[in-house]
Amino acid sequence: MTKQTNLQKDVLVLNLEQQLEEIAGQMFGKTVAELSDQETYYVILVYVKRLMEVSDANEGEKKVYYISAEFLIGKLLSNNLINLKIYRKLDEFLKSKGKDLAMIEEVEPEPSLGNGGLGRLAACFLDSITTMGFLGDGIGLNYHFGLFKQVFKDRLQNAEKNDWIEENSWLTKTDVTFDVYFGDQKVVSRLYDIDVAGYDSGVNKLHLFDIETVDESIVKDGIDFDKEDIEKNLTLFLYPDDSDEAGRLLRIYQQYFMVSNAAQLILREMKEKKYDLRKMYEHAVIQINDTHPTMVIPELIRILVEEKAFTMDEAIEVVRKTCAYTNHTILAEALEKWPLAYLEKVVPQLVPYIKELDKRVAKEYEDPKVQIIDEDDRVHMAHIDIHYGFSVNGVAAIHTEILKDSELNAFYKIYPEKFNNKTNGITFRRWLISCNRELTHFLADTIGDGFKKDADKLEKLLDHQEDQSVLDRLEEIKMNRKKDLAAYVQKAEGITLDPESIFDIQIKRLHEYKRQQMNALYIIHKYLEIKDGKKPVRPLTFIFGAKAAPAYVIAQDIIHLILVLQEIINNDPDVSPYMKVVMVENYNVSYAEKLIPACDISEQISLASKEASGTGNMKFMLNGAVTLGTSDGANVEIHELVGDDNIYIFGEKSEAVIAHYEKADYVSKDYYEKSPVIKEAVDFIVGKQALAVGHKENLERLYKELLNKDWFMTLLDLEEYIAVKDKAFADYEDRQKWKKMMLVNIAKAGFFSSDRTIAEYNRDIWKLK
Ligand SMILES: *Cc1c(COP(=O)(O)O)cnc(C)c1O
Repeated sequence: MTKQTNLQKDVLVLNLEQQLEEIAGQMFGKTVAELSDQETYYVILVYVKRLMEVSDANEGEKKVYYISAEFLIGKLLSNNLINLKIYRKLDEFLKSKGKDLAMIEEVEPEPSLGNGGLGRLAACFLDSITTMGFLGDGIGLNYHFGLFKQVFKDRLQNAEKNDWIEENSWLTKTDVTFDVYFGDQKVVSRLYDIDVAGYDSGVNKLHLFDIETVDESIVKDGIDFDKEDIEKNLTLFLYPDDSDEAGRLLRIYQQYFMVSNAAQLILREMKEKKYDLRKMYEHAVIQINDTHPTMVIPELIRILVEEKAFTMDEAIEVVRKTCAYTNHTILAEALEKWPLAYLEKVVPQLVPYIKELDKRVAKEYEDPKVQIIDEDDRVHMAHIDIHYGFSVNGVAAIHTEILKDSELNAFYKIYPEKFNNKTNGITFRRWLISCNRELTHFLADTIGDGFKKDADKLEKLLDHQEDQSVLDRLEEIKMNRKKDLAAYVQKAEGITLDPESIFDIQIKRLHEYKRQQMNALYIIHKYLEIKDGKKPVRPLTFIFGAKAAPAYVIAQDIIHLILVLQEIINNDPDVSPYMKVVMVENYNVSYAEKLIPACDISEQISLASKEASGTGNMKFMLNGAVTLGTSDGANVEIHELVGDDNIYIFGEKSEAVIAHYEKADYVSKDYYEKSPVIKEAVDFIVGKQALAVGHKENLERLYKELLNKDWFMTLLDLEEYIAVKDKAFADYEDRQKWKKMMLVNIAKAGFFSSDRTIAEYNRDIWKLK
């Protein structure tokens, strides 16, 4: 059977030109040469979907179900073409018709199904699971407007709906529907699938559940809508504002909708394949990506007990052997705790099971830290995962150690065997082969193209450290990407960038722990130095990209500050020849693919202990940027791999930071008062110049936050940050040294391939084959 489908695929590839002409005729009554870029995109979309439809599905006796509230998949065209190995052939055909594939890629809307790193990780994992030939599907929700689209107005972030679903899209409507009950209220789901093509491999699926009664017209101003009417709003947005009760309830509705569908889908597949449910764990493993899908545990137990004649003990045992949990954060406010009353309102049928799970824990363990339901009747979702799953993993070595030693220490003492580390990774198909084709070709010419399937082979590049022509080419390729980015930013933001300047880039969600505000304070410091006549040897370009959660006030204020600095600095004739600031609008995966290959210095400056892993840091390294970062998350492992000479590390270590929190002895004002440099920079925020451009309310609030609270200890590391950053800029002038640093970073990036991460998940947790 598989042979036949393979043949079908080969024929489709062989007849690519004829196929495209045929589809163009059917869809638009035109030849390919006559199509607009938009039409060409739709024609290719139809063709590639056909190709994936007839591709071999991955097979196996056991499947991983990766359940995640987010899949930040990015545009799919280029990646699918690469993974199906038809990029070059299509590119040549289009060229012969006067078309530019790169322009056609621009037309594709980016699916907006994730916030940041956690969602992007899920997407990289699907690529690697499939590429490595494993049987594994993603399960999530089909948010119509996804996360919001960011628009700057009056130097503030405005949130607009992000309309990404078109009539022709990668989504395929299936005839799978399930009944989902919120107490007595029944809704009917509909499954949409997106095919996931592995690199030179088979296909898996991303299953996205939706509800047919959803009503896009209830979204009025920006992203405001009636949060009560769940039949109309359930899958409109990812993470609707949870600053009020209606928003929090809606999140629970979404989470239960996701896991109820997931549980029904999984049980249906067990039945189809005639697997013995009592041995479900031999055929299915459920990876719970952060706590959002946690309710799949009580939901499965409920179904097994109520519909499949399991005893409670039996159901718990089978589910425990099937479910594994990934922790993504130690930020207390990000660990979900739902009031029992909310769960009673949304999913009363689950509450007796959650109480039973809690009762069993309470009977066994006295420690209040490990209970599921606390004294305030809040349900700790992570605690359900840890007690009733078989694996708990952190996402970078230091993160897992912190979980074991502090955050989850009480659990580690009970279940040491459950804890394991899986350092995150990124798919090189997207973050190298697709986004930096010139570098990819050059690497293949220099060290062979084995690195495309085995990322460790990048190390061969180390043999060329003294090869001047290789070093010069790396520099030249970086310059080409900087020129590409400058052209794009000119068009998109109307700001002129100098490719000869140093591109210093910080792109990631906006959060105080990631400390964009510290970077902003450096920029103020530099601005004041230049005003004082101390000019940098080479112009500096500071680039930011970040969305802030709409209800996160201080994060909005930080965006405001950066946009105010952009305005002041870029329009100051004394300074603008020496430095520029750009905050790009609506940072997303597509923008990342342009920014990362153009970066010289990768800003990874989170407060030590707070960034679980980071994956942006890996993407930058792979593209020859040098990291300026703290000893946090995967920066620690990058540091170990490249050595002291090929990275800039600064700041207080995680042990010291954790001690500050324990002793509550960090006082930001002390740092402000001790250091004239810090004081001058912080005062600038509410100085005449800033207030002339920005809003008093935002700037004063941020100023007060930094002086009186500064929960993420910006001022603790600021002076050292300034010194080390200045050192990095100075080192950049030693071009020979810098080019070698670029080379070593690329050569050592192999460890961060998500293929390695997935191989470890499989070896230690999934055991698929
Ligand atoms: C990789 C990526 C992230 C994660 O970045 P971090 O620096 O690891 O926080 C967030 N958003 C997008 C669009 C990404 O591609």
